[in-house]
Amino acid sequence: MESKFKTIIEPFRIKMVEPIVMTTRKEREKYLDGADNNLFLIKAEHILIDLLTDSGTGAMSAAQWAAMMEGDESYAGCRSYYKMRDAVQDLTGLKHIFPTHQGRAAERILFTTVGEEGKIIPNNTHFDTTRANIEFTKTEAIDLVIEEGKNPASEYPFKGNMDLVKLEELFEKHKGTDHIPLCMLTVTNNSGGGQPVSMKNLKETSELCKRYNIPLFLDACRFAENAYFIKIREPGFENREIKSIVQEMFSYVQGATMSSKKDALVNMGGFLALNDDALAAEVQNLEILTEGYPTYGGLSGRDLAALAQGLQEVVEEDYLEYRIRSTQYLGDALVELGIPIVRPVGGHAVYIDAKAMLPHIEPKDFPAQALACELYLEGGIRGVEIGSFMFGGIDPKTGKERFSEMELLRLAIPRRVYTQSHIDYVIEVFSHVVKNSKLMRGLTITEEPPFLRHFSAKLKRN
Ligand SMILES: *Cc1c(COP(=O)(O)O)cnc(C)c1O
Repeated sequence: MESKFKTIIEPFRIKMVEPIVMTTRKEREKYLDGADNNLFLIKAEHILIDLLTDSGTGAMSAAQWAAMMEGDESYAGCRSYYKMRDAVQDLTGLKHIFPTHQGRAAERILFTTVGEEGKIIPNNTHFDTTRANIEFTKTEAIDLVIEEGKNPASEYPFKGNMDLVKLEELFEKHKGTDHIPLCMLTVTNNSGGGQPVSMKNLKETSELCKRYNIPLFLDACRFAENAYFIKIREPGFENREIKSIVQEMFSYVQGATMSSKKDALVNMGGFLALNDDALAAEVQNLEILTEGYPTYGGLSGRDLAALAQGLQEVVEEDYLEYRIRSTQYLGDALVELGIPIVRPVGGHAVYIDAKAMLPHIEPKDFPAQALACELYLEGGIRGVEIGSFMFGGIDPKTGKERFSEMELLRLAIPRRVYTQSHIDYVIEVFSHVVKNSKLMRGLTITEEPPFLRHFSAKLKRN
């Protein structure tokens, strides 16, 4: 499986380039100051290596750009829709395919249809938009990932797995009611560090759901990365084609939500796919109300065409090997520098444990945000804090300040954008940052909005 060569050959060559504008430390100090130490407020052109997110930040192939030129912009029944529908059905086998402008629109439509007060939707770990859309309908969102999935040091190969004992307890408790309209499973488990779900766990979750007559849906954003992990980590799958692993994964579910900004290799888009005819009729009404006619659903014909092509490219093994190995490469190098990270490295990002790396900075002073600022100043790199700056704040019930369980800095890798030398540069910057880590200071919030404060709050350095 693994190549005997250490160098990761990107399985593409570069045909079109986008300049990265070099900056000096002095300039970066000015930009960070101007952004009040909030990296969301820095202009992208002032970033050298942008690892803020892997969502919608990937590069399209020549074949995708060519497909865009052929996009059919007819209002109803456009050719590009049928191409997209066929590409989705080829992988998923699901019957009704609704394009949406991104993943959360698919979520909103699905949960508006099945959710209401008193209902419950379990998942391994709900992604934040998934949870928000479920809770917006007054439905309860429950996370039931296995214990290993909550332990950053555990090397368990499938830390995204569902806890089947807890799921059965939940089903048993609500047996004979219609409290649980569906069960979700997120592949890979984004909020849990991009950790995969095994085929065995997916199959057993599906069997359990069937016994209780509850439909199972995939949050399929990173289905191809998950399939690759199954291939390299789960016995019995070594010699299977990625596409056939993907098809088996979807054979266990009755529906899926998808953000095409991840594993469909496009910059915008999503879809909702499902089998049930009655549910599909309700979904279609909502789709028309807010996304658009069901054969375009908030997207241009050219977007659908690129998405159809992207779904074929994402299951290519050379691409996935490069994708997973290059993320691993960054993680391994950081470990070698003595930097504590969440193990094992997931598919789309490396998460640094800033609490362990900077024990002298207390959670109330945002160690991961301090590290994010230092990385920017040192090398123009942008990561994102996932810790008490993002999830903390005043608890509305107790009036006390609450803190996140972990203080992480996420370095998300955009798809097909950076080369090994870009990543080597990131590693070199870290080797400097780590030397001065004892001198790093925390931050204090000076101004914050009432919700989702990490997007716009201002901070000052202590
Ligand atoms: C990104 C993401 C979503 C939401 O998709 P958007 O396209 O950003 O709306 C939902 N679930 C998971 C697991 C995701 O990673």
